[in-house]
Amino acid sequence: MHSDLDRILVPGRDIEAKVAELGWKISRDYAGKQLLTVGILKGSTIFMADLVRAISIPVSFDFMAVASYGLSSSSSGVVRILKDLDESIEGQDVLLIEDIVDTGLTLNYLLETLRTRNPASLRVCVLLDKPNRRRVEVPIDYPGFVIPDEFVVGYGLDYGGRYRNLPDVWVLKPEVYGKKNS
Ligand code: 5GP
Repeated sequence: MHSDLDRILVPGRDIEAKVAELGWKISRDYAGKQLLTVGILKGSTIFMADLVRAISIPVSFDFMAVASYGLSSSSSGVVRILKDLDESIEGQDVLLIEDIVDTGLTLNYLLETLRTRNPASLRVCVLLDKPNRRRVEVPIDYPGFVIPDEFVVGYGLDYGGRYRNLPDVWVLKPEVYGKKNS
Protein backbone atom coordinates (compact mmCIF):
# COMPACT_ATOMS: atom_id res chain seq x y z
CA MET A 1 0.00 0.00 0.00
CA HIS A 2 2.83 2.40 0.83
CA SER A 3 4.91 1.87 -2.31
CA ASP A 4 3.61 5.16 -3.81
CA LEU A 5 4.75 7.14 -0.78
CA ASP A 6 8.08 8.91 -0.40
CA ARG A 7 8.33 10.15 3.21
CA ILE A 8 6.38 11.52 6.14
CA LEU A 9 6.14 15.31 5.95
CA VAL A 10 3.95 16.02 9.00
CA PRO A 11 3.82 13.28 11.65
CA GLY A 12 0.49 12.52 13.30
CA ARG A 13 1.79 13.60 16.72
CA ASP A 14 2.61 17.08 15.33
CA ILE A 15 -0.86 17.29 13.82
CA GLU A 16 -2.35 16.32 17.18
CA ALA A 17 -0.48 19.13 18.94
CA LYS A 18 -1.45 21.65 16.23
CA VAL A 19 -5.11 20.63 16.38
CA ALA A 20 -5.12 21.15 20.17
CA GLU A 21 -3.57 24.61 19.72
CA LEU A 22 -6.02 25.59 16.96
CA GLY A 23 -8.96 24.32 19.02
CA TRP A 24 -7.82 26.38 21.98
CA LYS A 25 -7.45 29.58 19.88
CA ILE A 26 -10.84 29.10 18.22
CA SER A 27 -12.55 28.47 21.58
CA ARG A 28 -10.93 31.61 23.00
CA ASP A 29 -11.86 33.80 20.01
CA TYR A 30 -15.49 32.66 19.89
CA ALA A 31 -16.06 32.49 23.67
CA GLY A 32 -19.74 33.00 24.51
CA LYS A 33 -20.81 32.30 20.93
CA GLN A 34 -21.98 29.31 18.95
CA LEU A 35 -19.94 28.26 15.94
CA LEU A 36 -21.06 26.70 12.67
CA THR A 37 -18.16 24.72 11.21
CA VAL A 38 -18.32 24.06 7.48
CA GLY A 39 -16.15 21.20 6.24
CA ILE A 40 -15.17 20.86 2.61
CA LEU A 41 -15.65 17.26 1.54
CA LYS A 42 -13.94 14.95 1.47
CA GLY A 43 -10.44 16.05 2.39
CA SER A 44 -11.27 18.01 5.54
CA THR A 45 -13.26 15.26 7.29
CA ILE A 46 -10.46 13.79 9.41
CA PHE A 47 -9.11 17.22 10.36
CA MET A 48 -12.59 18.51 11.16
CA ALA A 49 -13.46 15.47 13.28
CA ASP A 50 -10.35 16.04 15.40
CA LEU A 51 -10.63 19.83 15.47
CA VAL A 52 -14.24 20.06 16.65
CA ARG A 53 -13.34 17.78 19.58
CA ALA A 54 -10.62 20.26 20.56
CA ILE A 55 -13.14 23.14 20.61
CA SER A 56 -14.86 23.79 23.94
CA ILE A 57 -17.70 26.10 22.80
CA PRO A 58 -20.97 24.82 21.23
CA VAL A 59 -20.38 23.72 17.62
CA SER A 60 -22.63 22.55 14.81
CA PHE A 61 -21.55 21.10 11.45
CA ASP A 62 -22.41 21.46 7.82
CA PHE A 63 -20.56 20.33 4.68
CA MET A 64 -19.97 21.38 1.10
CA ALA A 65 -18.43 19.41 -1.73
CA VAL A 66 -16.71 21.10 -4.65
CA ALA A 67 -15.09 19.74 -7.77
CA SER A 68 -11.43 20.67 -7.85
CA TYR A 69 -8.60 18.29 -8.71
CA GLY A 70 -10.01 14.81 -9.32
CA LEU A 71 -7.09 12.66 -10.33
CA SER A 72 -5.00 15.53 -11.61
CA SER A 73 -2.42 17.32 -9.46
CA SER A 74 -2.84 20.74 -11.06
CA SER A 75 -5.77 23.09 -10.57
CA SER A 76 -8.00 23.87 -13.54
CA GLY A 77 -9.26 27.03 -11.86
CA VAL A 78 -12.82 25.83 -12.38
CA VAL A 79 -14.73 25.33 -9.14
CA ARG A 80 -18.17 23.76 -9.11
CA ILE A 81 -20.42 23.09 -6.12
CA LEU A 82 -21.33 19.39 -6.04
CA LYS A 83 -23.06 19.56 -2.66
CA ASP A 84 -24.26 22.79 -1.07
CA LEU A 85 -24.89 23.50 2.61
CA ASP A 86 -28.03 21.99 4.11
CA GLU A 87 -29.01 25.12 6.04
CA SER A 88 -28.85 28.91 5.77
CA ILE A 89 -25.79 30.57 7.30
CA GLU A 90 -27.40 34.01 7.60
CA GLY A 91 -26.48 35.67 10.90
CA GLN A 92 -24.23 32.78 11.98
CA ASP A 93 -20.56 32.70 12.95
CA VAL A 94 -19.11 30.42 10.30
CA LEU A 95 -15.71 28.73 10.30
CA LEU A 96 -14.70 27.16 6.99
CA ILE A 97 -12.45 24.13 7.48
CA GLU A 98 -10.15 23.08 4.63
CA ASP A 99 -7.48 20.41 4.42
CA ILE A 100 -5.07 22.29 2.12
CA VAL A 101 -4.72 25.56 0.23
CA ASP A 102 -2.68 25.43 -2.93
CA THR A 103 -3.49 27.99 -5.65
CA GLY A 104 -6.20 29.45 -3.40
CA LEU A 105 -8.80 29.29 -6.19
CA THR A 106 -11.11 26.88 -4.38
CA LEU A 107 -11.06 28.77 -1.09
CA ASN A 108 -11.45 32.12 -2.85
CA TYR A 109 -14.53 30.86 -4.67
CA LEU A 110 -16.02 29.39 -1.49
CA LEU A 111 -15.46 32.60 0.49
CA GLU A 112 -17.01 34.74 -2.24
CA THR A 113 -20.01 32.43 -2.40
CA LEU A 114 -20.54 32.23 1.36
CA ARG A 115 -20.11 36.00 1.88
CA THR A 116 -23.15 36.65 -0.31
CA ARG A 117 -25.24 34.64 2.18
CA ASN A 118 -24.71 37.19 4.99
CA PRO A 119 -23.11 35.23 7.82
CA ALA A 120 -22.42 37.24 11.02
CA SER A 121 -18.76 36.32 10.52
CA LEU A 122 -16.75 34.10 8.21
CA ARG A 123 -13.28 32.80 9.04
CA VAL A 124 -11.02 30.10 7.68
CA CYS A 125 -9.04 27.28 9.29
CA VAL A 126 -6.64 25.36 7.05
CA LEU A 127 -4.40 22.47 8.06
CA LEU A 128 -1.82 22.71 5.25
CA ASP A 129 -0.72 25.75 3.28
CA LYS A 130 1.39 25.66 0.08
CA PRO A 131 2.06 29.42 -0.34
CA ASN A 132 4.50 28.99 -3.25
CA ARG A 133 1.67 27.93 -5.55
CA ARG A 134 -0.75 30.75 -4.71
CA ARG A 135 -2.56 32.38 -7.63
CA VAL A 136 -5.05 34.37 -5.57
CA GLU A 137 -4.55 35.74 -2.05
CA VAL A 138 -6.86 34.21 0.54
CA PRO A 139 -7.14 35.04 4.25
CA ILE A 140 -6.26 32.16 6.58
CA ASP A 141 -7.34 33.03 10.12
CA TYR A 142 -6.26 29.75 11.69
CA PRO A 143 -3.31 28.22 9.80
CA GLY A 144 -1.86 24.81 10.58
CA PHE A 145 1.40 24.02 8.74
CA VAL A 146 3.17 25.76 5.87
CA ILE A 147 4.50 23.06 3.54
CA PRO A 148 6.64 23.03 0.38
CA ASP A 149 5.26 22.54 -3.12
CA GLU A 150 4.90 18.77 -3.04
CA PHE A 151 1.85 16.57 -3.51
CA VAL A 152 0.79 15.21 -0.12
CA VAL A 153 -1.61 12.52 1.03
CA GLY A 154 -2.89 11.20 4.36
CA TYR A 155 -4.92 12.63 7.26
CA GLY A 156 -7.90 13.10 4.91
CA LEU A 157 -5.98 13.95 1.73
CA ASP A 158 -6.15 11.47 -1.12
CA TYR A 159 -4.59 10.50 -4.37
CA GLY A 160 -7.14 8.84 -6.64
CA GLY A 161 -9.36 8.17 -3.61
CA ARG A 162 -6.64 6.42 -1.59
CA TYR A 163 -4.53 7.21 1.47
CA ARG A 164 -7.08 9.37 3.33
CA ASN A 165 -6.89 7.07 6.35
CA LEU A 166 -3.16 7.48 6.98
CA PRO A 167 -2.54 9.13 10.38
CA ASP A 168 0.47 11.11 9.08
CA VAL A 169 0.79 13.47 6.09
CA TRP A 170 3.07 11.88 3.47
CA VAL A 171 4.71 13.12 0.28
CA LEU A 172 3.61 11.10 -2.74
CA LYS A 173 6.51 9.98 -4.92
CA PRO A 174 6.73 12.55 -7.76
CA GLU A 175 7.03 9.75 -10.34
CA VAL A 176 3.66 8.35 -9.19
CA TYR A 177 1.55 11.39 -10.03
CA GLY A 178 3.92 12.42 -12.83
CA LYS A 179 3.28 9.07 -14.48
CA LYS A 180 -0.52 9.20 -14.18
CA ASN A 181 -0.90 12.88 -15.15
CA SER A 182 1.45 12.98 -18.08
P1 5GP B 1 -6.53 25.11 -4.71
O1 5GP B 1 -7.83 25.56 -5.27
O2 5GP B 1 -6.08 25.90 -3.50
O3 5GP B 1 -5.46 25.04 -5.75
O4 5GP B 1 -6.70 23.61 -4.31
C1 5GP B 1 -7.35 23.18 -3.20
C2 5GP B 1 -7.69 21.71 -3.34
O5 5GP B 1 -6.74 21.02 -4.17
C3 5GP B 1 -7.61 21.01 -2.02
O6 5GP B 1 -8.83 21.09 -1.32
C4 5GP B 1 -7.25 19.60 -2.42
O7 5GP B 1 -8.41 18.89 -2.77
C5 5GP B 1 -6.41 19.77 -3.68
N1 5GP B 1 -4.96 19.72 -3.40
C6 5GP B 1 -4.07 20.71 -3.51
N2 5GP B 1 -2.83 20.31 -3.18
C7 5GP B 1 -2.96 19.01 -2.83
C8 5GP B 1 -2.03 18.02 -2.35
O8 5GP B 1 -0.81 18.24 -2.18
N3 5GP B 1 -2.53 16.79 -2.09
C9 5GP B 1 -3.85 16.49 -2.26
N4 5GP B 1 -4.23 15.24 -1.97
N5 5GP B 1 -4.76 17.39 -2.70
C10 5GP B 1 -4.30 18.63 -2.98
